[in-house]
Amino acid sequence: MILDLAADSPFSIHTLPYGVFRPSATEPARVGVAIGTAVLDLAALAATGHFDGPALRGGNVFALPSLNAFMALGRPAWDEARGRVQTLLAPGLNGRPLAPGVAEALRPIDCVELLLPAAIGDYTDFYSSREHATNVGSMFRGPDQALLPNWLHLPVAYHGRAGTVVRSGAEIIRPRGQMLPPGAPTPVFGPTAELDFELEVGFFAGPGNRPGEPISIRSAANHIFGLVLVNDWSARDIQRWEYRPLGPFLSKNFATTISPWVVPLAALEPFRRPGPPQSPEPLDYLRDDSDWAFDIHLAATLQSEAMRVAGMPPLVITRTNFRHLYWSMPQQLAHHTINGCAVRPGDLLASGTISGPMPDSRGSLLELTWGGAQPLELPTGETRRFLEDGDRLALTGWCQGDGYQVGFGEAAATVRAANR
Ligand code: CA
Repeated sequence: MILDLAADSPFSIHTLPYGVFRPSATEPARVGVAIGTAVLDLAALAATGHFDGPALRGGNVFALPSLNAFMALGRPAWDEARGRVQTLLAPGLNGRPLAPGVAEALRPIDCVELLLPAAIGDYTDFYSSREHATNVGSMFRGPDQALLPNWLHLPVAYHGRAGTVVRSGAEIIRPRGQMLPPGAPTPVFGPTAELDFELEVGFFAGPGNRPGEPISIRSAANHIFGLVLVNDWSARDIQRWEYRPLGPFLSKNFATTISPWVVPLAALEPFRRPGPPQSPEPLDYLRDDSDWAFDIHLAATLQSEAMRVAGMPPLVITRTNFRHLYWSMPQQLAHHTINGCAVRPGDLLASGTISGPMPDSRGSLLELTWGGAQPLELPTGETRRFLEDGDRLALTGWCQGDGYQVGFGEAAATVRAANR
């Protein structure tokens, strides 16, 4: 196979995201890198001696059905692998022949089965967008109590459910549960009427830490392997009834969709930017003078079943940016471990919904329709307060370089009717 690299391909030579795939139903899953419209089979390259450097020591970690072992090796191995893959693919960018074994290790992405990239032991969801927290707090508690007193002092989070993180494409079954209709004296039971998405970006932890030994904010870069798009599906009516005092439970733990390709931190370096100013100044363990925001364009599209039948393209319903986040990834990691909590390779730490400052940059339907009061209009004439059965919701993200993209691909799923 030859390299096919369009200028607007999300998977340029500057991206080189890692994923796990099965070449065919009879072959074992292994690690690959996306390039253009192809997957480069790293297990096949390792078997022919292409990863014999000191940190990778043969690259056996690529012949496994998850990225966890590779994540555990740490930054020297990550840098070595990325450098090696860039060297192997570089001739193909100029139309020159690839080294023996490399062309044979390329497979069309459309012909392989993409799997979850990691065996996720723990999933933590932060709440790090000031705009999102302010919007939701205003709706749930009123504008006077929008930001609770702790919010500007620590990155608020809760423990999500790792076992229900699913790959892009897996369908989402509308959850059922308890909710208290407005003005009703007692709760009712049924399918959620307020199914929502949350546009988030998550990162996978690298080597991790021993219990009792926090990850310092200054060493965080060695513990952030790479980033994926995250849709933290939410049932708002169930959430509103259950969330006090311990936070969301059944309103969010039924499914979380992630994109299949993990974009390494190294690929994002050209897009590093200063984050929003923080006031009041955080406590010492959360302080870091380096820039930890990244200019990642984010968007969500919605396509109803009727739009699909009519051949209408998905409608962009929001555009936002990762750089709006108030709390950075190192602050999240430092805070998560400051009490001695151990983080392990393959743990997923998500940002929380990323909303921007403008009404059309809000990262959930709850905010875009302001609790359903301002429904979205679709090109078919349909309206949406929340998601309906048959809706396909897709998140996408990309960094725009000079003539190239560092793209995340897509985290997408279609909503199915509740089980009876
Ligand atoms: Ca969330």
